[in-house]
Amino acid sequence: MGAIKVDGKSDRFSILKKRLEAAIPEMELREYEPMARHTSFRIGGPVRMMALPRTKGQAQTLLRLAAEQGVAPFFLGNGTNLLVADRGYEGLAVKLAGQVNREEFYQIREVNRRLLGGGGVLLSQLANAAWGRNLTGLEFAQGIPGTVGGAVVMNAGAYGGEIAQVLCSVTVLEPDGTERTLSVEACGFDYRQSVFTGGRQLIIEAAFALAPGSGRDIKARMEDLSARRRAKQPLDLPSAGSTFKRPKGHFAAALIEQCGLKGAAVGEAQVSEKHAGFVVNRGAATAEDVRRLMDLVRETVLRETGVLLEPEVKLLGF
Ligand SMILES: Cc1cc2nc3c(=O)[nH]c(=O)nc-3n(C[C@H](O)[C@H](O)[C@H](O)COP(=O)(O)OP(=O)(O)OC[C@H]3O[C@@H](n4cnc5c(N)ncnc54)[C@H](O)[C@@H]3O)c2cc1C
Repeated sequence: MGAIKVDGKSDRFSILKKRLEAAIPEMELREYEPMARHTSFRIGGPVRMMALPRTKGQAQTLLRLAAEQGVAPFFLGNGTNLLVADRGYEGLAVKLAGQVNREEFYQIREVNRRLLGGGGVLLSQLANAAWGRNLTGLEFAQGIPGTVGGAVVMNAGAYGGEIAQVLCSVTVLEPDGTERTLSVEACGFDYRQSVFTGGRQLIIEAAFALAPGSGRDIKARMEDLSARRRAKQPLDLPSAGSTFKRPKGHFAAALIEQCGLKGAAVGEAQVSEKHAGFVVNRGAATAEDVRRLMDLVRETVLRETGVLLEPEVKLLGF
């Protein structure tokens, strides 16, 4: 896997690597990084190049140089809604690096009664920070395993709450590195989608408008929701959460179960026996197993119920 092929595409990455090393020597760059290390499915072949900027300045230079080289980056969050092909992805993945409350993409701060979270902050960390400040509104997000960036893109939600209800603005870097702040109205939020779904802008921070609340009530609500998750979801096996979006007027899991597909498997990928809305990796599932199982589920549900399921999980490298 390590050898650099000398075709036009790979050459572009070799040039980009040299330019990045010269311009931002302190930024970590990895070649042929296995994506299985970065996805909650524990599946995925190597990405040609992964860049891990720690500061806004690094990210701006990275985006600008990638654009000059004609490379459109893929922005990676915590990889919890992602299926990467077994052969990997011949591209550039950008992952925000740092540690909570050290580097800027991992800062949690309160400004003018708004709670701000860097793009790499986990929702669980942000929800806990809100609880610590007696701020209510993010309890729904505590059990969603994504980052602030991924959650904004997906308009992540659970138990009646969703990002669109609490977000007030989001700060992004445009493909040329320019910083821009968008109001919630400009985010085009809909069910599990936003204007960021196309993947052009890198989300580096989001601000949330929360209300004062009782710490005890906030904690009790978070505990109740995590108990409900543990009872219903196959959290002991690798997955990417709900495989399909909720079709209007239906529940994906109920339709899948109704078609007798609970427990159905292709290779090591299985429709969870605990929650038919999840496809799980029983151990050594390949991306191809998962994709074929998703196709089987979609075809069967369409044939038997007339409802077309739309994947919620994002596919990369297929
Ligand atoms: C066990 C489990 C339970 C889950 N439960 C829920 C749930 O209750 N509700 C729910 O909505 N989801 C749920 N999910 C799915 C997932 O956690 C969410 O979709 C989450 O928002 C994805 O965030 P992420 O950081 O992991 O994004 P990734 O999976 O890394 O990426 C998702 C998308 O966001 C983009 N992206 C990520 N970060 C950035 C950034 N900084 N800038 C620009 N684009 C970016 C990616 O390019 C990709 O298109 C669950 C997943 C698992 C594994």
